[in-house]
Amino acid sequence: MENKRDRIAVGVDLGGTSIKYALVDLDGRIYHESQRVTNSEAQSSDILKNIKDAIVEMKNYAHNLGYPIAAVGLGSPGCVDFKTGFLMGASPNFRHWKNVPIAEKLRSMVNLPVFVDNDANLMALGEARYGAGIGAKNIICITVGTGIGGGIIIDGKLYRGFASAGAELGHMSIVADGLPCNCGGKGCLEQYASASAIIRTFKKYSSHDASKNEDKTLDVKYIFELYKKGDSTAAKAIKECTHYLGIGLANFINIFNPELIIVGGGVAEAGNVFINMLREVAFAYAMDKPKENVKIVPAKLGNKAGFLGAISFAFERMDSGE
Ligand SMILES: [Zn+2]
Repeated sequence: MENKRDRIAVGVDLGGTSIKYALVDLDGRIYHESQRVTNSEAQSSDILKNIKDAIVEMKNYAHNLGYPIAAVGLGSPGCVDFKTGFLMGASPNFRHWKNVPIAEKLRSMVNLPVFVDNDANLMALGEARYGAGIGAKNIICITVGTGIGGGIIIDGKLYRGFASAGAELGHMSIVADGLPCNCGGKGCLEQYASASAIIRTFKKYSSHDASKNEDKTLDVKYIFELYKKGDSTAAKAIKECTHYLGIGLANFINIFNPELIIVGGGVAEAGNVFINMLREVAFAYAMDKPKENVKIVPAKLGNKAGFLGAISFAFERMDSGE
C-alpha cells in the first residue's frame, strides 16, 4: 500500500503580481519554492503557460530528487467551481482571466491531476492545516491587505457556500449605504478597514499637514511606525479602522462561534499592537456565549499560506476519489 507520508505535490498560488509555487509533501514540508512575475493585462493563454512553466520547473526538481509528483493544487483569484476547477466569470486581478477551465487546460499541459479553488479559500486552508490553525476545526481566517479576503472552516472543512461563491468576508456591509465598493455594494468592511482604508483615513486627518500628505511612500507600515512613535494622526486613523474591523470580527463571532480567528495580510504584520486593538473591540461587541473561548491570533505562514493550502486541497481531492 502506498505510504501517504511520502506523497509530494506542487502547490501554486496565482496572484495579481506574482505566481508563488512550491514542491511540498503532505506534512507541509517544502522541498523547493520559487516565484514568477504575472501581468494583470496578460491573455489567459499566457497565464496558463506561465503556470505550466512553473509546474514543469517543479516536476524537473522532483525528478532529480527521485520523487513522483502526485498532483497539482492551484489557488486562483475569482469564483472557482472547486469540483471541476472552472473559473466562473471574471477575476478581480486579471483583465482577461475569465471563464477559464483552468484544471482541464493545465491537466493536458502537464499530464498530472490538477485541482483548483479560490485563492483566499486555499490561504485559509493553508493556515488551518499548517499554520496558526493547527488543531482547530472551526476557524475564520481573514486577510487584511489592499482589500479584505477570507475563508471559513467549519468542522475542519472549507465552507464555500451553495455555488462556491461565499466567504466574501471583506464584503460584509458594515455601514448601511456607506462608501461604494468595487463589488457593487455599499459600506463594505473592505472600504473601512483594509490597508487602503487606513491610508485614506490617515490622509483625511492629515490634510492640514502637507508634509505628511505628499509623502509618496505612504503605506500602512509607515503609518504604524508613526503610531508607535506617538503620532496622534496615525493613532486616530488606525483606531478608526481597527474599530470597524473589530466590529466585523464581532459579527463573525456571533454568526459562526469559531474557536479561532486568524488575521493575516500586510496590515497584520504590524504585529501585536494591531491584534490587541482588534481583540479589544471584537470582544467588547460580540455576544457573551459565542465569544467564550474564541482566540484571535496572527497568521503564521505569510505568503506561503496559498501554496500550502493548495497542496492540502489537492491531497484532499485525490483522497475523496470524486
Ligand atoms: Zn464590497
